[in-house]
Amino acid sequence: DKVLVSGANGYIAMWVVRTLLERGYAVRGTVRSASKAKFMEAYFSALGYADKFESVIVDDIMKDGAFDEAVKGVDAIAHTASPFTGNVQTHDDLIKPAVKGTVGMLESALKHGTQVRRIVITSSGAAVISPLDTPTVFTEVDWNEKDPQSVKELGDKAPILPTGYRASKTLAEKAAWSFVEEHKAEIGWDISVINPPFVFGPAIHDFTTIASLNTSLQIWISTVTSSTPLPKEHLLYSESWVDVRDVALAHVLSLEKPDAGGERIIVSAGTWNWQEWIDTANLLENPLKTLPFYKGEPSLLEAGKVEYLISFNTEKEQRILGIKHHTKLETARDTLEDFAKRGW
Ligand code: NDP
Repeated sequence: DKVLVSGANGYIAMWVVRTLLERGYAVRGTVRSASKAKFMEAYFSALGYADKFESVIVDDIMKDGAFDEAVKGVDAIAHTASPFTGNVQTHDDLIKPAVKGTVGMLESALKHGTQVRRIVITSSGAAVISPLDTPTVFTEVDWNEKDPQSVKELGDKAPILPTGYRASKTLAEKAAWSFVEEHKAEIGWDISVINPPFVFGPAIHDFTTIASLNTSLQIWISTVTSSTPLPKEHLLYSESWVDVRDVALAHVLSLEKPDAGGERIIVSAGTWNWQEWIDTANLLENPLKTLPFYKGEPSLLEAGKVEYLISFNTEKEQRILGIKHHTKLETARDTLEDFAKRGW
């Protein structure tokens, strides 16, 4: 079978492509430029997949029919392309590509994806949570109503990260479910949505500096190796997380498992706060030449008053996908070893 992966050069998508290839699929990846296509082709050829991997350039995912050619002849699609960056001017810079890209992919699949059986969409925990002041366990029935509302009310006075980003993921996922509902009589495929919280773990995409890393891993390495003391609020900031290799596997399994059809599935390894990641790194021998570990304030955790405001119920993930997650120590070790190999 052949799978189309959009935004294939991204942090998560590179692992989705690699996992698909390792499980015997052929992959067509979309990227925005020839240089990105070249990087991917070189990477997957070096792993021995020259015959199984091809890339196509879709320079603007907001154009009508952007994916019309790309969907031809594929059996399934993983739509991951969506901006996750604070480096934009307006909310629309996030919301438009997120929503139009997602709906555009579904439109192209409806018109030209005659062989397509399933489309998995990378949504986010951001589309699920409405952070509260008390610890909350979120499930798949929850929707982030707050951030789209803030963007509507405050316009560009609402922060780009996290508000605009979370709104973009919520609106894109809602648009996908509405599209499926409206076109259910005409489509020959179903969708499955993956909702991961923060994704950490080793990176195989193309980057050279911390500044050119994807957002989630950039925050992780900057915190674990911070050269300036961070405020207590940052050290105790908590969320949930998942290893990038596990979230990639979740994408592949949700294409394979019949029961994943028509479901949104939260994929999470559990909670964290920054001090825990800092402590975890400090359990390891630092393999990095250029970046000493930051110690933070370990005593913050000793007080026994740690609250995790955002956690997720992963019953559905365990029932349908059955993923065995990497631990914090494994993820920290593999991430740091990977950076060390790059000479950091
Ligand atoms: P990356 O920034 O590494 O990857 C994003 C991908 O989307 C890249 O291929 C990028 O292309 C493409 N993209 C971004 N903006 C646009 C645009 N305007 N038009 C076309 N393509 C675009 O991030 P991640 O791998 O982390 O993110 C992948 C997906 O996972 C996203 O949908 C994100 O929302 C989601 N996600 C990520 C989490 C995380 O913690 N990392 C958590 C939950 C969900 P290019 O390289 O050309 O910019």
